[in-house]
Amino acid sequence: MTTRRQRKVLVIDDSQPNLVLLKAHLNSMGLIALLADNAKDGIAIAAEQKPDIILLDVMMPEIDGFETCRRLKADVRTSSIPVIFVSARDQSEDKIGGLKLGAVDYVTKPFNKGELQARVGIVLQMTELQERLLLLANTDELTGLSNRRHFFEILEREVLGAKIRGGSVAVMMFDVDHFKNVNDSYGHLSGDRILQQVGKILNENIYPLDLAARYGGEEFVIVMPGMPAEIATQRAEKLCSIVDKNNWEIASQPISITCSVGVAIFDGDDSTDPYELIKRADDALYAAKHRGRNCVVSYDKLSQQEREMVPHQDEDFRELQTKISSLALQIREQTMGIISAFTKAIAAKDPYLAGHVENVKVYSVAIAKQMGVSESLVGQLWTAAMLHDLGKIIIPNHILHKTSGLTDDERRIIQRHPIASADILAPIGIFGQEIVIIRHHHENFDGTGYPNGLVGKNIPIGSRILAVANSFDSITSVKPWNSEIKSAEDAIGEIVSLAGSQFDPEVVEAFKKAYAENHSLWPLAQKHQVECVAQ
Ligand code: GH3
Ligand code: MG
Ligand code: MG
Repeated sequence: MTTRRQRKVLVIDDSQPNLVLLKAHLNSMGLIALLADNAKDGIAIAAEQKPDIILLDVMMPEIDGFETCRRLKADVRTSSIPVIFVSARDQSEDKIGGLKLGAVDYVTKPFNKGELQARVGIVLQMTELQERLLLLANTDELTGLSNRRHFFEILEREVLGAKIRGGSVAVMMFDVDHFKNVNDSYGHLSGDRILQQVGKILNENIYPLDLAARYGGEEFVIVMPGMPAEIATQRAEKLCSIVDKNNWEIASQPISITCSVGVAIFDGDDSTDPYELIKRADDALYAAKHRGRNCVVSYDKLSQQEREMVPHQDEDFRELQTKISSLALQIREQTMGIISAFTKAIAAKDPYLAGHVENVKVYSVAIAKQMGVSESLVGQLWTAAMLHDLGKIIIPNHILHKTSGLTDDERRIIQRHPIASADILAPIGIFGQEIVIIRHHHENFDGTGYPNGLVGKNIPIGSRILAVANSFDSITSVKPWNSEIKSAEDAIGEIVSLAGSQFDPEVVEAFKKAYAENHSLWPLAQKHQVECVAQ
């Protein structure tokens, strides 16, 4: 679905030789290098060209790299572009300062070509993964159209754009007529195929700037930016007629499929928000059903009688609310499915991680229940445990599996995985709480952990629980880089000895109780091994 475009890297550096050298390194990776020899030009190019990464020098005349980074992060057009500092300043304070400004990495000059390329490669891999996840999270599984979440995002953006720049936005809501009969007569699978075809027809007959989405069930919506009312109705009538005239058949039997359509227009009225617009399109659709179906009604043209006929506001509002919350749940479940597919992809890279994720989920939930935390936190932990190692996808295997002697840089790469997991998930927008838990699951209770060195109860409770669950599974599992495993008793002994330093003592207590209740099943890693041997 995604067309692979050539990636662009912007280099901002006042030294001409550096620009030339970095351009050569980037070109040899198949990347386009955009060059700026001062911050001002760099910021302008970033806003205009939207590069995938910015390599930023620190010491530059007038505006230095740190200030440049601050300005890039403050501008919505450039704030999400990953910045890597490339600087001769190699003091820890500089690196920490740079990372605190929101940079994803810091490379010191003189840099090694291979290392620089590896770091750029890691950030690009993360970008690619983010884009794939975002695409999946925005897509309706059945029809491949945008889903309701993405539709609202676009509608909100277009309505805001029309408020600022003037102009109108048309929304059309399509509902397949008597669709229940299709399911009842031909079965759900045939119904699904019809929905796919309706989606395809709508999508193929709109213009590139319009967006067709599945609103839910057998309802579709189309946003047409800049579309005046009269033309919107004509266009909706055209689409309605294309659906009607299509040669529909199920199992070689001709059938009739039609849609009813409601149209509503935003034309600069400040009091109209996207939700009101949808409600109007829905009211007009309701009238279209009453006029006999297979027709288009515009909200502006509703008769007084039709306006009064629309179901009572409260009832309508409640119905909409229930629908939205059930759809939000569906989207969440769908996204979890996608992400479990990603964890499987990680498992292909490292089979140990597959079992690890499952085991950590069970341990975390058991500890959380033992501590009597809220149901919602238990749910968040379940999800966070599933996703906590997603960031390991960016760690090259030779580092991930190294048995000893990690260099400082390699350690820094490994220690970025909680942040990388959080960064990969951030654009999906529905894992806010889980991201916080994941980000801090390697913090230590005494403040010696990473990424932020948080201390004691400042570490989110979910992260403190995940930390213990994570360690117990790690100690009791065979890992690709370490075949030594410990018994449950030894593992618990080790965890107890670290209560107060690495782990929260209260969590360790809860873990001991959870183990006592499950000792015949735990450690899960060893149980799986026994089962595998037995098979
Ligand atoms: P109306 O003309 O008044 O819209 O009648 P209708 O039968 O289309 O409307 P109703 O809301 O009563 O029924 C909608 C049906 O759509 C019921 C539901 O089972 C079906 N449906 C919703 N989502 C899907 C889906 O993903 N696949 C299939 N096959 N059916 C679906
Ligand atoms: Mg319906
Ligand atoms: Mg219907």
